[in-house]
Order: sequence, then C-alpha cells, then structure tokens
Amino acid sequence: MLTIAGFDPSGGAGVLVDVRTIVAFGCHPVAAMTSLTFQNSGGVFGATHESAKSLRAQIVPVVEERKVAAVKIGMLPTSELILEVACLIREGRLPAPVIDPVLKSSSGYELIESDALEILTRELLPLARVITPNIPESETLTALTVSDEESMRAVADRLRAMGAHAVLIKGGHRKQSGVGGPGSEKAQATDILDDAGDVHVFRGEWIEALPVRGTGCMLSSAIAAGLAKGEDLPQAVAAAKEFVAAEIRKSKLKTQS
Ligand code: PLP
Repeated sequence: MLTIAGFDPSGGAGVLVDVRTIVAFGCHPVAAMTSLTFQNSGGVFGATHESAKSLRAQIVPVVEERKVAAVKIGMLPTSELILEVACLIREGRLPAPVIDPVLKSSSGYELIESDALEILTRELLPLARVITPNIPESETLTALTVSDEESMRAVADRLRAMGAHAVLIKGGHRKQSGVGGPGSEKAQATDILDDAGDVHVFRGEWIEALPVRGTGCMLSSAIAAGLAKGEDLPQAVAAAKEFVAAEIRKSKLKTQS
C-alpha cells in the first residue's frame, strides 16, 4: 500500500504515522514524500516541498516493480504536486486514492498554498475513491458552515456535487453531549459517509483525551489498508474508526501514567 504524504521528523503525523498504521493492518508500506516538514509537538516551523519531477521519480519505479493495491494521499502542498498526482492516476499508474485533504496543522500552520486549494478541488477530488475531510476542512472546501448532523450531510452532498464520488465527514471537531436519550451521559462524535448517495452514519463514543496528533493520517491510511484487503468502503471506514479510537485511548492511558 502506498502513502503519498509529508514527512514529519517528530513522527506525530504524515508518512511515519501512515507507515505505522499500514503495518498494523498487515499491509506492506511503500511511501513517497511530498514535503520535508520541520516540526515537533509544539508546532510546524517550516517545510521544503518536493517538485513534481522528484515526486514522479519516487513513485514510478515503485509502482512498476510491485502492484499497489491502494493509495492514501495526505499533505500535497502545491499545485504542481497536485497536478502530478492527478496525472499519475489518469495514466493508470495509481488506483483511485483515499484523499485526506490536509489544509492546516492543529497548531494553525498552512500545509497547502492558498492557490493550490482550487486545483485540489477541481483536479484531484473527482479522481478519489473517497475524501476524508474533518469539519473545518469540509467548510473551507465548500464555503458552507457545519453546525449539526443535517449540515454535515449537506456539506457531503455539496462535495459530491463538486465531483467527489464518496465523502467521509469526520465529526471529531463537534462533540455532542447527552445525545443518547434520557439517562445517557455519554458524549458522542458522529462521522458521516456518503458513498455515491448511499449514506452511513457512524456514531462513536466521544473519548475525552488531550489532542492526539496524526489521527487524520491514521484514519485515511487505515481506510486505504482496508480497501487494499478487499473490504468495501463502509467496512473499511468502520475498522479504521475502531483503530483510531484505540490509538486515542492508548494515548490517554500514556498521559495518565
Ligand atoms: N504534518 C504533516 C506532514 C501532516 O501530514 C499533517 C496532517 O496530516 C500535519 C503535520 C498536521 O498534523 P496535526 O493535525 O497533528 O498537527
């Protein structure tokens, strides 16, 4: 399974998290780096982006040697890189990818140039198997506002109208309290998958923990690993969500010990 993503030397996000996830799902990881970032848990301090030529030079020898069953795409910071990936897909060198539209780090650093956003939407989203924006990313991509489950569905609808075949809106930024009816104190986080109009709602228990880095990287890699193993999209999303929830629980235990 191939990840095309940014390199975070601190291992909190990007390629290192993707590789760890792909291995956990029993797949063989191969990777192409889009950007060498400089960061730690305190923030992102800069980045040196790859060129289209160097990205292609990383990918072509790998996909010519072994069949890549699934692809996950993370940080694609420039128009040049986005167009190159679209080209590689159109040439039939890569299968339809799982795209995590990485826009900003949790600390607020822009991980995509502002003029590249439109290219991402126009050129790459229609080529994805599924895109996995969180709520703020879905709002930036559509210029809509998300406040409840209905607006999550509306934003997924809009992204499909913009050309995406399938959209998973990750509800982790919207904690819902007391939604389980009388007597239920458990807060929830809801994700919505719209797969070509077939809508699945995933209700998960909200796990109270310090922010965990790289959860978007983990989720998209885990979905792609499920697809690589032949699962259908809803199955792959369900398993990926369980994996990420377990990782968040583990990090909570680490911070408590
Ligand atoms: N750095 C890289 C290379 C990433 O791919 C991402 C997110 O996908 C981030 C940083 C942002 O991660 P976080 O939200 O954990 O800051």
